[in-house]
Amino acid sequence: MIAKIEVDIPTCIGCGTCWVACPDAFREVEVGEEYKAAATGRLAPEKALRNAAEGCPSLSISLIDDSGAVLYPTEAQREELRKRLQW
Ligand code: SF4
Repeated sequence: MIAKIEVDIPTCIGCGTCWVACPDAFREVEVGEEYKAAATGRLAPEKALRNAAEGCPSLSISLIDDSGAVLYPTEAQREELRKRLQW
C-alpha cells in the first residue's frame, strides 16, 4: 500500500503529466525559470498514483510504502533509464 510519494525535483523535466493526471497528489511549482512537480502531501487512489508514476518519463516519482520501501520505480527500472539516456 502506498503511504507516501516523493518527487525528485532535479530530474523532473516539468512535463506536467502528473499534476494534470492526478492533481490531488501533485502540483506545479516554480523553480527558478522552470516549472517542476512537487507532492501536495495528499494521497490519491493507488491506481491514480501508479498511473502518474508510471507515466513519468524521467522516473522522478517514487511510490513508497509504510515501511519506507520504494515500490516504484525499481532500481532495475532506474538503471534501464540511465542506460537509455547514455546515447
Ligand atoms: S510526470 Fe515526471 S517529469 Fe513530468 S512533471 Fe511530473 S514528475 Fe516531472
